[in-house]
This record gives sequence, C-alpha cells and structure tokens, in this order.
Amino acid sequence: MSYSEAQLKALADEAVAMGRKCREGANADYIPFLASVPSDLCGLSIICCDGTLVHSGDCSYRFALESISKVCSMVLAMEQKGSENVREKIGAEPTGLPFNSVMALTTHHDKPLTPLVNAGAMATVSFIDAPDKESRWRMILDFQQQLMSENVTLSNEVNKSEQDTNFHNRAIAWLLYAAGNCFCDPMEACEVYTRQCSTLVTCDDLATLGGTLANNGVNPITGKRVISPENVAPSLAEMTMEGLYEFSGDWAFLVGLPSKSGVGGGVVSVVPGKMAIAGFSPPLDEVGNSVRAMRMIRHVADKLNLSIYNSGHDTVH
Ligand code: GLU
Repeated sequence: MSYSEAQLKALADEAVAMGRKCREGANADYIPFLASVPSDLCGLSIICCDGTLVHSGDCSYRFALESISKVCSMVLAMEQKGSENVREKIGAEPTGLPFNSVMALTTHHDKPLTPLVNAGAMATVSFIDAPDKESRWRMILDFQQQLMSENVTLSNEVNKSEQDTNFHNRAIAWLLYAAGNCFCDPMEACEVYTRQCSTLVTCDDLATLGGTLANNGVNPITGKRVISPENVAPSLAEMTMEGLYEFSGDWAFLVGLPSKSGVGGGVVSVVPGKMAIAGFSPPLDEVGNSVRAMRMIRHVADKLNLSIYNSGHDTVH
C-alpha cells in the first residue's frame, strides 16, 4: 500500500507538534560546537521510494552529520571490498557499550565489532582504498553527496571544534593500529573520520540517505544507483544491531526499523522498499540519541505499522 502525500504530511506535522512538546535531553557538550546549536530546533522529513518528500518543522537547518557518516563510509567500504570483507575485518556484532568505548575494543582483541562505533568507523575509513589522506577524504565526501545531495559540505567550524578535542578518538585509533586493525596511518584515519562527522546536512538530506537504502541503493531524488543491491541488506543489518548504540535492541523491539543516530541530533530510519523517515533535534538522551527525533519517528512508525518484524506491515490506523 502507498500513502498519499497529504496523509504523510499530516502525520509529519503531528509528529513535529508532539516532538516540540518534549523537554527531555541535552545537547552533546563534549564537542564545543554542538553545545551551541539551538536546542529548540525540531524537524521531520519522510521520503518515499518514488521520490515523494514531505517535511515539517526545521527541515532546512543544516546540522552536523556526526555518527550517521559511519553508515556512508561503511557502505563505501562494502562497495570497494565487499560486505563479507567488512564483516571479517571490522565486524557485524553489537558492542552493547558506548560509541567510544575502549573496553568494547580491548575485550574483543581490539577488533571493533561494527563499523558503527567510533573504533569501527575509523577502521572502516582506513580500510577504504586511497593513495593519500586528501583522496580518502574526497572519496568519502563525494559518496556522502551521492547518497544525499550535492549540498552536503564540510563545516570548517565543526571540523575545527572536533579536531581540537578528539583526543579520545586518537587514542582509539592508536589501539586499533597496535592490534593491526587500522589499515592506514592511524592519525590519518582519525582525521578523515573526524572530517566525515563534520559535514552539514538537512533533515531532507538525511531522509534521502535512508531513502537510497530503502530504494535498494538508488537515490530516490537523483534516480542514480549509488549502492549495489547486494550491499543494502548487510548495511541495514549493521544499522539494526548498532545504529542507536546501547538502545539498538530496544529500538528494534519498540520500532523495528534499521536506523542510525548521530550526536548532532539526527536519526534516520529505513523502511525497506517503502520509505525513510529522518528526524532532527539536538537534545540527546544519555546514550547519545536525539530524544525528539526518536519520539517523532516512533510516532510515524506506529501510526503506519511500519516495523519490519510485523507481517501485517502497511496498515494506516
Ligand atoms: N564525531 C563524534 C565522535 O567521534 C561522533 C559520535 C556520534 O555521533 O555518536 O565522538
């Protein structure tokens, strides 16, 4: 069943009105720039596989992609090396621990387990074939643009704020390197990873990223194939297992959609073959997921009965 544009727009408006009432959570403050973003911002975009796009709230505000960039680089690594190589070298298991946990690494022989935590994301960046740092970076930025839109650009301000304070990630990169799990210079991996987190996107861009995955690898706005069909399911599986960090299992239980969050306040959820829903609002819960974005997405998913685990998928209440 497909939904009318008016139906989706009404639902997006309803979700944003509900989201705005929520006063829980706090901006990430370990990255100085993120602490300064207005906390009241709140938006939701829904994109269908046919390119229909509806949005409500602050959907043209450009915010930092942060951890959601991990999905883009993971897919790029799969495109270059095959999903099985990514699983073997980086992993496909939830860590059950915070996104920057050193313990998650050290208790698993310094293997990151998933490309969707900081250690795994830096290992993934290093796994991408590139002759030097600037080519590695250009490849990643170009891929983000293909998955979303050409408007995705690096913010020098966010990047500086992160590069000046990313000591913990630098330590993780050296641990990976010491164990043979970083495949380029560790400081190059950390620097490029930090840049990929510092690109600015809108809620519509984020929905387009999810829409490309929902649409079996074809960007629903540009109509261009970006991901090979065989890499879509493994990417969604990784998102299910680790996309919302230690809340990933609860999210699968409650909402049932492969998703990814970032500490910039974005969350994107994929409904394979149908649509993607992206929410944005800066205040985070203690795990690092946007409280309002999760509530808004859950509202839409509940109303449309979208969980991939429901056999009766597709009902409009
Ligand atoms: N740039 C952030 C970091 O490395 C991303 C974390 C996130 O969004 O979860 O800590």
